[in-house]
Amino acid sequence: MKIRVKTECEKQFLKNNKFNYSMTLLSLVISACMDVALAIMLYFFFVAATTGDNQTLFIGTIAGGVFCALYVLCKIIKRSFMNKYLKTALSQFKGYVFSKILSKSISEYRRESSAKFISAFSNDLNSIELNYLVGSIDIMGSVFTFVASGIAMLFFDWRIGLAMIVAAMVCSFLSMKYGRRLVKKESKTANENMGFIDQVKDLLNGFIVIKSFRAEKEVLQIFNERNVELESTKQSRRATSETVTIFGDLAGLLLNSILFSAVFALGIGFGDDAGTGAALLMVFIQLLNYMLVPVRKIGSGISNRRAAQALIDRISEAIEEDPTYVETEKEELTGVDGGIEFKNVNFGYEDDTKNILKNINIKFEKGKSYAIVGSSGSGKSTLLKLILGHMPNYDGSITIDGKEIKNLSLDSLYEHVSVIQQDVFLFDSTIQNNITMFRDFDADKLKSAIERAGLSSLIAEKGDDYPCGECGKHLSGGEKQRVSIARCLVRETPVLLMDEATAALDSETAFSVTNEILGIDGLTRIIVTHGLEESLLLRYDEIIVIQGGRIVEQGHFNDLMEQKGYFYSLYNVFQS
Ligand code: ADP
Ligand code: MG
Repeated sequence: MKIRVKTECEKQFLKNNKFNYSMTLLSLVISACMDVALAIMLYFFFVAATTGDNQTLFIGTIAGGVFCALYVLCKIIKRSFMNKYLKTALSQFKGYVFSKILSKSISEYRRESSAKFISAFSNDLNSIELNYLVGSIDIMGSVFTFVASGIAMLFFDWRIGLAMIVAAMVCSFLSMKYGRRLVKKESKTANENMGFIDQVKDLLNGFIVIKSFRAEKEVLQIFNERNVELESTKQSRRATSETVTIFGDLAGLLLNSILFSAVFALGIGFGDDAGTGAALLMVFIQLLNYMLVPVRKIGSGISNRRAAQALIDRISEAIEEDPTYVETEKEELTGVDGGIEFKNVNFGYEDDTKNILKNINIKFEKGKSYAIVGSSGSGKSTLLKLILGHMPNYDGSITIDGKEIKNLSLDSLYEHVSVIQQDVFLFDSTIQNNITMFRDFDADKLKSAIERAGLSSLIAEKGDDYPCGECGKHLSGGEKQRVSIARCLVRETPVLLMDEATAALDSETAFSVTNEILGIDGLTRIIVTHGLEESLLLRYDEIIVIQGGRIVEQGHFNDLMEQKGYFYSLYNVFQS
């Protein structure tokens, strides 16, 4: 048999949690023994009653009362430890999975579907809790009860005991064998579920578009296709699971028949001593009841547990670092004095076609301002993403302070380089937290960033604890954009990248924010812009013009205007 190595994910369940787990198991063992002891006690009680042994009857009654109290206490203890165990196990597991997701590099994260993670925290987790954690404990409890009642049966009559144990084990084995199908079905359900979540997320994000284009009917149809597909997969999973339990029920019938045939065959209950015989019959029936519960549960429990384990494996696989993305021995960036330099850089998103950026050679010097202009799709954003180390699979060399970007530790890179993007993401928190990204900053620095980003009046009006809402929905597009600008400025990194960051602002605010940024001393700026105002363009040290992934012109505004080339025509189109 293949021995399974526990994944780090699974280890989270027992970490700092062994005491709760052991106590749960211990109370299960005690509980199982008490169940069986109860049956045995009843036997002696019955015998005493039929033989008129009043003293034993009296002691038995008192002992029975104490026993019942202990029994309830034991169940309460089990519940309490089991709840503590589950709480710690589940919170540690989720914490571990989330921390692993956060430790992924941007390029690795992009390859995964976020729905996989969302489903790990929702559906998959429900199944893991029910079928793996609670399931494992139930299985252990069942095994203990089975063993205890088996031993008791052997004690009362070894022939009946043996027949029952063998029959029960055969039935459990059969249902476990069949239950293997469940693993495949569970994985299929998880996949379908992931696709479903992905779709719901996508459709809900597009809610306003759907409404304004009156596409409700069509979207509902798309939704329903996936919806029905998922429910069919779940139906098939349930059917398999139910078939597994049928084996358990069959086992019940089989055990019942064996017991009663054996009882009749052996003449128990009809012998000379009618009292003892009846007591024996009763104890067998009682023990049979104890045995039936585990026999019904073990096979399906183990199958469901296996299926849930497959889910844990999926999650482990998804969060495991892909060796190609693991940062090993990365260089630390300590400054940016040497500027940023592209040498013969070619890049394509798909490895086989290096054709998005072509033969890029350029040097961005420390403390200077660069504008990048070009029509949409020409590769401007891609150029910035390369500087941010998002895509290390470029050809040629991109260095910052002489160090190759693909060899740099991204943490150290982001200490020096920050970016304001076109798409703003705000967290469902206050304006202040969205600016500081939940860190502490010097009050003066914060104030200056807020002023430069043109946020002062907004904050004066709404307060810095104003809640931005989910994805910043309580703020306008321009306000969100300004929060993201302040978020970058407060960090005071020596390099600032901007990707059409003022596109959502009115021209006056866009102008004043860009003007502020161009006025910061010593900052290296690379600004992708589509606004071509002469007064601003004049302030850039260099304008880089990209067309179809190539740098076609570069130089100061005045030089480019004199050349009367591509930039000159772009500029004139903008002015008209
Ligand atoms: P710009 O910012 O100049 O508008 P981009 O750099 O965003 O242009 O895109 C340049 C080209 O790269 C476009 O043709 C675009 O379709 C393609 N592209 C951008 N992002 C991706 C991506 N993640 N995967 C594949 N192709 C992409
Ligand atoms: Mg772009």
